[in-house]
Amino acid sequence: RGEEGVEREGGRGGEGEKEEEERERETDCLFWGSGLRIAIFRQREGSVDLGFSSFCPRFKSEHPCFPFGRRLPCDIYWHGVSFHDNDILSGQVNKFPGMTEMVRKITLSRALRIMQNLFPDEYNFYPRSWILPDEFQLFVTQVRMVKDGDQSWKPTFIVKPDSGCQGDGIYLIKDPSDLRLTGTLQSRPAVVQEYICKPLLIDKLKFDIRLYVLLKSLEPLEIYIAKDGLSRFCTEPYQEPTPQNLHRVFMHLTNYSLNIHSGKFIHSDSASTGSKRTFSSILFKLSSKGVDIKKVWSDIISLVIKTLIALTPELKVFYQSDIPTGRPGPTCFQILGFDILLMKNLKPMLLEVNANPSMRIEHEYELSPGVFENIPSLVDEEVKVAVIRDTLRLMDPLKKKKEMHFPDICMDRKYRVPPVSDRMSSSKLKGSSLSVARFQHPEKPFTGKEDLDCELTGDPDSNPEAHLPSICLKQVFPKYAKQFNYLRLVDRMANLFIRFLGIKGTMKLGPTGFRTFIRNCKLSSSSLSMAAVDILYIDITRRWNSMTQDQRDSGTDGCLHTLRGPCLTGIGKGLCVLSPLILWRGGRKMN
Ligand code: ADP
Repeated sequence: RGEEGVEREGGRGGEGEKEEEERERETDCLFWGSGLRIAIFRQREGSVDLGFSSFCPRFKSEHPCFPFGRRLPCDIYWHGVSFHDNDILSGQVNKFPGMTEMVRKITLSRALRIMQNLFPDEYNFYPRSWILPDEFQLFVTQVRMVKDGDQSWKPTFIVKPDSGCQGDGIYLIKDPSDLRLTGTLQSRPAVVQEYICKPLLIDKLKFDIRLYVLLKSLEPLEIYIAKDGLSRFCTEPYQEPTPQNLHRVFMHLTNYSLNIHSGKFIHSDSASTGSKRTFSSILFKLSSKGVDIKKVWSDIISLVIKTLIALTPELKVFYQSDIPTGRPGPTCFQILGFDILLMKNLKPMLLEVNANPSMRIEHEYELSPGVFENIPSLVDEEVKVAVIRDTLRLMDPLKKKKEMHFPDICMDRKYRVPPVSDRMSSSKLKGSSLSVARFQHPEKPFTGKEDLDCELTGDPDSNPEAHLPSICLKQVFPKYAKQFNYLRLVDRMANLFIRFLGIKGTMKLGPTGFRTFIRNCKLSSSSLSMAAVDILYIDITRRWNSMTQDQRDSGTDGCLHTLRGPCLTGIGKGLCVLSPLILWRGGRKMN
C-alpha cells in the first residue's frame, strides 16, 4: 500500500480509527503494485472455486467475511460468483451482468447457432447441438434424415445437462432413442451434441485445453488471452466410441474432477507430464513433431474472438440494463475459462465457456489411504497466478498515473507473488513430497515480432512493474484481429437497439416502439413491410404470452424459441438475429 492510495481517499485526516482499520483491511490483500484497493467478496469456500482468495492465504484466514462493514470505495471488487453478488456503484467489478446466463450450455449453443446460421464457415468450431426437450423432435428428424442419406454414418452424441458442470450428468448415446427421457429432461433441460470421435491423442489419451481469457471491456470490445493454459488428460487410453465403451468416463471425459478419482490420475511433478499439464508443454511436443503450432494458436485465438463476438450483443443489453449509460455504476471485466478440444486434424473445437473458472492453485493429495493434504499444484500456479496478476495490472485504474509518477511509488513486496521459479526453492516446496522440475518453455506460443509486452513492461529502473514476471495476457482483439469486425453484425444491431429504444427499467416494448426500431435500423424494405412488422410483433407477443415462467426466466433461450417460426420464414437474417434481443428485452421487463 503506497502513499498514493491513501491520498486518493482524501488524506489521513478526519477519519476515525475504525475507518483506518477498514482501509487496512481493504488493502491487506494487495499482492501486486501499490495503491490498488481490492475488495474481495465472500468466495465459495469449500467449493471448487475459491477464486482470488486462494492466492491470499493470509487474507483468507484472517478476514473470511470481508468486506462486510466496509465504507470506503475500492478500485476493484472481486466477486465470487456473479455481478449481482453485491451492489457496487463505482470502481471495477470482475464480473459482467448476464455472463453466467450467457455461457450456460443452452444459451451458448443458441448464441453460436445464430452465428452459425449467419456465418456457417466462420462458426464451424462448435459441434452441432440441439436443445432438449424443446428440440427433441428436430434432433430425431435430423439424425434420421442424415442416416437415411448416408448409411455409413455412425454418429455418437453427448448429452450435457444445461446447469451441469464437472461432467455431472453427462452421458454418451449412439441414437436419439437412447436418450434418458424419463422425467429428467423436463426438469433438467440439456444440450445434446455431436460427439467429437477423433480427438488428438497424446500418450494415447484424450485431453482438453483450458484457456484463460480476459474480457477487459465490452465497448470497445477488448479481449486478452493468456499465453499458457492447462491441458487436462483422461486417465484411460482412448478408443473411438462403441456401445461397449460409451459408459467409460475416464476414457471419454477429460474433467479433472472425474479423473482424479480414477486411481490412475498422475499428479504432475512437472508441467509436461502427468494428468494436468501446461498447454505450452503440449505445443512444444507437437512442435517437435513438426506441427505448425502458430497455426494452431491462431485458430484458437479466432475461436475465442468469434465466440465472444457471438456473446457480446446480449451481454451489452444486460450491461445497459444493469448499468445504464449516464448513471453511476462500476465498469466490468471478467476472466473466462474456455474449454477447447483439439481434433486429430488439429482443428480446435469449443466445448464450453466457464464464467467462474476455478482459480485454485492447490490440489488434494492422498498422503496415505484416507489422509489428504492440500499441496501446491505447480502447474495450476504457473498458469493461474500469472492470469490474475496480469488482470490486476491491466485493470489498475492508476496504471497510467503511476507510469507518470513512478518515483513516488514503491512496490508492495510483502504480498507480491514471485514467479513460480523463485518459489521452487522455498523450503516449503523442498520439504514437500513433490520433486519439482519446472518446465522451461522452449517455445512460447506467442513469439517473434509480436509486441507482447504492450504498455506494461520497460526499463526496470524506471518502471516499477518491470520487477514482475513478464506479462502473460496478450491482447488479441482489436489488436490482432480487426479483420473479424465484419462478424459483428448482431453486435451492431444490439447497439442500434440500445440506442434507438433506450433501456429503461420498466419499459415494455410496444408495437409503436417496435415499428420505430425497425424504421430507425432501416430494416424495413419491400420484403418486410410495416404490416409485416406489426404481424411479427403480434406473433412474438402471442408466443411470449404462451411461454411458461421457466422459459421466460431463461431469457433469450425462450425468446429465440418463440421466434423460430417467424424468423426463419423469410423475414431476413438481420431481423432474425435481432429479434431475440427485442423479445428478451420486452419479456424481462414485462414480468
Ligand atoms: P462440464 O461443464 O460438465 O464439464 P463439458 O461440456 O465441459 O461439461 O463436457 C465435459 C467433458 O466431456 C469435456 O471436458 C470433454 O472431455 C467431453 N466433451 C464434451 N463435449 C464433447 C464433444 N462434443 N465431443 C467430445 N467430447 C466432449
